[in-house]
Amino acid sequence: MGSLPTNAFSPLVPGDFSQESKKVIDFIADYYSNIENYPVLSQVKPGYLKSQLPDSAPNSPEPLEDILKDIDASIIPGLTHWQSPNFYAYFQVNASTAGFLGEMLCSGFNVVNFGWITSPAATELETLIMDWVAKMLELPPQFMSSGNGGGVLHSSTCEAIVCTLAAARDKVLTEVGYEAITKLVVYSSDQTHSCLQKGVKLVGIGPSNLRCLPTAFSEGFSLSPQTLEDAIQEDIKSGLVPLYLCGTVGTTACGAVDPIEKLGEVARKYKLWFHIDAAYAGSACICPEFRHYLNGVELADSFSMNAHKWFLTNMDCCCLWVKNPDSLINSLSTNPEYLRNAASESLNVIDYKDWQIALSRRFRALKLWVVIRRHGVATLRFHIRSDVNLACCLESLVARDSRFELVAPRKFALVCFRLKAGKKNNKDDESLNQKLNKKLLQEVNESGNAYMIHSVIGGVYFIRCAVGSTLTEERHVAGLWKLIQEKATEVLLNTTY
Ligand SMILES: *Cc1c(COP(=O)(O)O)cnc(C)c1O
Repeated sequence: MGSLPTNAFSPLVPGDFSQESKKVIDFIADYYSNIENYPVLSQVKPGYLKSQLPDSAPNSPEPLEDILKDIDASIIPGLTHWQSPNFYAYFQVNASTAGFLGEMLCSGFNVVNFGWITSPAATELETLIMDWVAKMLELPPQFMSSGNGGGVLHSSTCEAIVCTLAAARDKVLTEVGYEAITKLVVYSSDQTHSCLQKGVKLVGIGPSNLRCLPTAFSEGFSLSPQTLEDAIQEDIKSGLVPLYLCGTVGTTACGAVDPIEKLGEVARKYKLWFHIDAAYAGSACICPEFRHYLNGVELADSFSMNAHKWFLTNMDCCCLWVKNPDSLINSLSTNPEYLRNAASESLNVIDYKDWQIALSRRFRALKLWVVIRRHGVATLRFHIRSDVNLACCLESLVARDSRFELVAPRKFALVCFRLKAGKKNNKDDESLNQKLNKKLLQEVNESGNAYMIHSVIGGVYFIRCAVGSTLTEERHVAGLWKLIQEKATEVLLNTTY
């Protein structure tokens, strides 16, 4: 006792709030102004922070200025700059002014809308905004609130997949008995995101009951409906129970698209839950010229896309739609006494806690609503198209340099390419290719002027360039290509054959 501050303790005074927030906003604005001057990929060594910051917490308040100074000196050097116009790794996570404003409002109100009663506006706006986006994507009416379906905002695709897996699992197990869990089988292609693997484990299905079916270059690395059907029949013959199929529109390694309609028919024939993961490419499907990739979506039970990737919505915001919300609710709802209320019991309201893992949830709908209103559908389409155009530019630059080759067809704004080893018909070609491209990628990333990552499909190592950071312009892509060419020349000269 006696160590508490004697002054009134006031952590949320509107005047201070306004003043200090403005300082932080100016700090962030400066960061964006300078972002091109930082090495895109952080150059610090593991453990760098330990020697720079005190090893225990301060006992008394510290001035904001000191904290911002430390952020400048110690934190920014340890950032990999995802908002840099020269960031081409993974997939972009678009920040935007509107996304930030929405995030600020969400954080400012700091309400928790696990039930309708805990913030009716948050629940009802979520229902409305998910219908808006469903319309933008031309999802069938069964996914909208008016058609007995509905959308919900999750933090991540991982969460969306875990929840839909749990719903599918419980739907089957309540019929056949919970001991049959060892018989449930989940299907996907070998290109499906690893979050399916994680989800399968989390819902208690053994890893040996996940079929990652092989894909081929000749089919653009998409899942063949015949391969799927053969696998299902084999499993049925062995007494197993096919449960869930995950199709992908825009795979992470190379942007491949599974044939949704044909897969949907197989799923329907064998009564599988069909989920479509369009985390990255879903955003593009608001443009009529990309919408055909979703043809057959009416055969799906659930569909998800990350608005925090390509939709100008700051982290985090994953949109999940389901045809039958009851299947989610049956699996995920809990109703302890302290959460009971008349609104919930009237059954006329949505309690989104029953559509997700956690109880508490953020007012993400506000963010998405601000983003869509501040831009409008036409501008959002323009945004997608300009990124795709930039990717086309890069693709044609790669195609024009005979030292390089494209390794997968480009559908969206992801360009996959590699430097070719000169010698043909040499059985060591692939290991040489790998050596060259690893070196090239390392040189580019260590220059600090760009950041890309690699992937491997069918034993082929390649560089993947995801164009589409919010700040990326044509000059950046031109600069990137020049950098790649220069480093390629060095690497080819210095690699011994
Ligand atoms: C990014 C991505 C994911 C993972 O998304 P999280 O929101 O980080 O869980 C899953 N699938 C695909 C196709 C992705 O591109």
